[in-house]
Amino acid sequence: MSRFQSRVAIVTGAAQGIGAATARLLATQGASVVVADLTVERAGGTVDAITGAGGRAMAVGCDVTEAESVDAMVTAALERFGSVDILVNNAGITRDNLLYKMPRSDWDAVISTNLTSIFLCCQAASVPMVKAKYGKIVSLSSQSALGNRGQVNYAAAKAGVQGVTATLAQELGRYNINVNAVAPGYVATAMTDATAERVGFRPEEYRKMASEQTPLGRVGQPEDIANVIAFLASDEASYVTGQTLYVNGGVR
Ligand code: NDP
Repeated sequence: MSRFQSRVAIVTGAAQGIGAATARLLATQGASVVVADLTVERAGGTVDAITGAGGRAMAVGCDVTEAESVDAMVTAALERFGSVDILVNNAGITRDNLLYKMPRSDWDAVISTNLTSIFLCCQAASVPMVKAKYGKIVSLSSQSALGNRGQVNYAAAKAGVQGVTATLAQELGRYNINVNAVAPGYVATAMTDATAERVGFRPEEYRKMASEQTPLGRVGQPEDIANVIAFLASDEASYVTGQTLYVNGGVR
């Protein structure tokens, strides 16, 4: 399929979960994909899946909290594929705790990985996008942006993502760059499995409980989110910008 023919996409945190599903989908639809994660080795699995299916991808080791590392990722994309048309800001972590028990280091880590990273990646990737007068930026917010017990750090970061998105849509619109966010509800990944175990449930039990609270009667899969990211990264969404789309099975 040629939806992203001749487009180059960077997906951060793409070794697993939503990022890996997004990288695979964009590649299936014709994009050359820079698969970025903390180490080249971690990113390599997703690259192998893409190239094994006949797609184009390269692995980059990038810590999205470090400006130099982010700059090097964008440079690597330009050197290998010649442009940066799509940026998916997906890398993220949780460090949940109630306010009175949360160490400052867990506040800082979550803000840095989920929010400051987006500032750094947008700043670096927008340079070639502005020059090309073309770009699509899609960032991962969360249902938790609306408030979630035990996630004061994560909720703040994911609400911040929505503010960054609304603001950059205003700043970058004149350069034909669309900036949007996706806010998933519960998605079955290593992140939510770890949450389940931390609160004393087996992952499948925890998913069942989440399904029962979801109008569509199931939890999300990484591909459910990847499909919406791909839409927002496509020219079909060329008049959509500054938006955060909740993808949560109808949870309120
Ligand atoms: P995963 O934990 O499965 O994957 C996240 C990836 O990001 C991992 O490969 C992780 O590497 C990587 N990563 C972490 N820190 C960095 C960093 N500093 N630099 C580069 N890569 C990093 O998460 P999900 O797929 O579940 O989530 C993806 C995104 O979606 C996140 O932003 C998350 O907050 C958001 N989201 C997820 C929801 C869910 O229910 N799963 C719901 C709402 C939003 P490593 O494993 O080595 O740490």
